[in-house]
Amino acid sequence: METLLAVLIVEDSESDAQLIVRLLKKAGYQVAYEQVETAEQTRAALKKQTWDIVISDYNLPQFDGRAALEILKEEQPDIPFIVVSGMIGEESAVAMMKAGAHDYLIKGNLTRLAPAVKRELEQAGIRQERKQAEQALRESEEKYRTLVEQASDGIFITNSEGRYLDVNSAGCALSGYTREEILQLTMQQVTIFSMSAPLQLKELQQGETIISEREMIRKDGSLICVEISAKQLPDGNLQGIVRDITGRKQADDQLRQLSSAVEHSPSAIMITDVDGKIEYVNPKFTAVNGYALEEARGKNPRILKSAQTPPEVYIELWQTILAGKEWRGEFLNRKKNGELYWEFASISAITDSNGNITHFVSVNEDITARKESEEKIKRLNAGLEQLAMTDYLTNLYNRRYFMQRGAEEFKRAKRNNQFVSLLMLDIDEFKKVNDTHGHQAGDMALQQVAAALKFSVRESDILGRMGGEEFAVFLPDTSLHEAFILAQRIQQVMAKTSFEMPGALLTITASIGVSAITDQMSGIDDLIRTADEALYQAKRSGRNCVIKYKKNSNEMFDMSNE
Ligand code: GH3
Ligand code: MG
Ligand code: MG
Repeated sequence: METLLAVLIVEDSESDAQLIVRLLKKAGYQVAYEQVETAEQTRAALKKQTWDIVISDYNLPQFDGRAALEILKEEQPDIPFIVVSGMIGEESAVAMMKAGAHDYLIKGNLTRLAPAVKRELEQAGIRQERKQAEQALRESEEKYRTLVEQASDGIFITNSEGRYLDVNSAGCALSGYTREEILQLTMQQVTIFSMSAPLQLKELQQGETIISEREMIRKDGSLICVEISAKQLPDGNLQGIVRDITGRKQADDQLRQLSSAVEHSPSAIMITDVDGKIEYVNPKFTAVNGYALEEARGKNPRILKSAQTPPEVYIELWQTILAGKEWRGEFLNRKKNGELYWEFASISAITDSNGNITHFVSVNEDITARKESEEKIKRLNAGLEQLAMTDYLTNLYNRRYFMQRGAEEFKRAKRNNQFVSLLMLDIDEFKKVNDTHGHQAGDMALQQVAAALKFSVRESDILGRMGGEEFAVFLPDTSLHEAFILAQRIQQVMAKTSFEMPGALLTITASIGVSAITDQMSGIDDLIRTADEALYQAKRSGRNCVIKYKKNSNEMFDMSNE
């Protein structure tokens, strides 16, 4: 196959040019050539197209090979230039070669022409390839240089002793030094190699990439934490990437502190994902309700539900936390062992940087003990109230409370046009009981009288000890007559009953005054006053009897048929 060859022949002799063309064709080239003989023609031809080779005479009438070579160097410097000439001096030949001519042939002996062309074309090809490769390399280096310069991590190269040979902008920014300053320093001067993390030269020499954390001393003396990834290059130098991890370290430290605080918190803490699946519980949580982290993880906080908390509480809870607010409230929850416990919970949502809810956190306090003491106080208070209401000896209502209840009941009866009556009872000759059997026996007698009275009246009747051995019975919905009947029964039962005293059986009698509500009465005091008057009459009548308040007989409320 013929090789296409574009030849520029700088020659004044037509026949010499033809000879060259012939020789080249003979050697297998398909020759396309142009013959030029002036500087202008040469330049024009070189400007017009790319040539494979230039074959030039040395001596031309208006021109010479040396000038032609100069023009070629300006226009197409990579093309082979072969001088084909009559005899010229050795000095001129050497000068031409020095100026860049590739070969020199004598016109009388052109047998070397074809091999010389072949060789020079090959050399030019190699030169071209190398040039392209160099160009590619330059471009590639440029590309990587840009990449390295753009990198946000510091990138550096040191020699095997640690002296910096190169560093990128990020490395300068990180250290605070200029590039020139860094190149005067060694890695040992800039970073602290702690004993706990010495430079692992052996591993580096084995070609491993070593990643380590160190402190870097910046130009201004401040320390930053850096992560260095180092690798030894084939030439023995060290290449490294250095990253500022101060912020990450601080965040790590803070996270560790917070985790520790949560781990040791006296409150039970639970974190769930956005679907309510438990992701974390702290040791206190386990201590309170018995569920360990491994058991609780993945479950719903429902495991703690006691079914004692009304559904509205949960509805309010969800509305509050989904609105981004903190919910606080009390739950009655169930432990793993089934026991109930009271909890005060603060629940809120955790959001990411976009404001989307990612988790819920609940901080709980076991308030069972507090609740129990609250209950106790309530009971104590109730007891106190009871104490305030009742008489210590007989457990009947005391005078104050009897008057209070009586006043309320009186008002109600008046409003509703209902009957009410009242009995006033006083034990006869009680002083003698005390005198004969002692005060303690008297107390026991009072208690037994109180018990007997309680036994005789209805649930709705109000019984009070008004003082000493005097008792009152308020009878709602009861007419004077009905009250009188009841009073007589009480008086008779008492008279027939033997009261037990230490070492004796005792008969005790009582006198009873009876009164009922009238239109003229305005309050309980009127009712008591009239019953007292009747009682006084009973005593006057010889005791152990019942007397109705006399004026009641004329009143419309006097239903008595006595
Ligand atoms: P009468 O009512 O029939 O006129 O005679 P009495 O002896 O019952 O009358 P008086 O009111 O003079 O005496 C009441 C006595 O009741 C005086 C007191 O010793 C006694 N007494 C009052 N309160 C108590 C008490 O809580 N315990 C005891 N043991 N005795 C009491
Ligand atoms: Mg008495
Ligand atoms: Mg009395």
